[in-house]
Amino acid sequence: MMDAPKEALSNKPRSAQSNPAWSRDVLILALDLYLRHRASMPSKNHPEVQELSLFLGKMGSALGVSLVTNFRNDNGVYMKLSNFRRWDPNYVKDGKKGLAKGNKLEGVVWAEYVHDQYRLAQVVAAIRAAVDHELSLPDPLRELGTADEAEIQEAEEGRVLTRMHRTRERDRKLVASKKKHALEKYGKLECEVCGFNFLAEYGMAGEGLIDVHHLKPVHTLRPGEKTHLNDLALLCANCHRVVHSSKRWLDIEQLRAAWAANR
Ligand SMILES: [Zn+2]
Ligand SMILES: [Zn+2]
Repeated sequence: MMDAPKEALSNKPRSAQSNPAWSRDVLILALDLYLRHRASMPSKNHPEVQELSLFLGKMGSALGVSLVTNFRNDNGVYMKLSNFRRWDPNYVKDGKKGLAKGNKLEGVVWAEYVHDQYRLAQVVAAIRAAVDHELSLPDPLRELGTADEAEIQEAEEGRVLTRMHRTRERDRKLVASKKKHALEKYGKLECEVCGFNFLAEYGMAGEGLIDVHHLKPVHTLRPGEKTHLNDLALLCANCHRVVHSSKRWLDIEQLRAAWAANR
């Protein structure tokens, strides 16, 4: 958040401040609906429009965000669909304009997904499954990753899946067994990309330190699935930060290539 100090002082409810942080998820779901009905846009009373508006309410409460936006009613969803029209070459080619009002993120999400509807469908399925199952579970899952983390950029796939990724890689038991496994196998904890070793660099003050990163692409995550040690990589804090610092998170090979290119 850019204006964090102001927010900290404000006693307005979180949702009333600036843009709700989960709007990327909303746009992804709305774009999916739009593209499936691209030829003729559904009305406000269309069952899928009503279903999506109910679902958004559910997603808001799963994320612990109480919404003061109009996304939750049918009209709000309908407006979102209309907003996409101005990005749709099929629609504007006849000189029609679409709804000019809207936010920049609509165009961004449009560009990210319009040419890859297969991936869009996968992301939508993953978000829906997460909200329907995992995120509606009570603590501790719900508490994990609730606070925005400065060092983690929300993934292109939205906040729900970002949170799911973080929940996976911060599972204490898994982190402990990943480290134990590495210590038994290699006798040390080393970053799998740059080789940084906290113990070697900082002595006992760095003992046991290393980040654990979940390797599976976020759109393939499904609630309740078991995480295997092979799904996890050991990364130093710097390398892990780089992975998560761009909208489309780097995979480990891209990270290795970026690191190697600068040696
Ligand atoms: Zn590293
Ligand atoms: Zn990670």
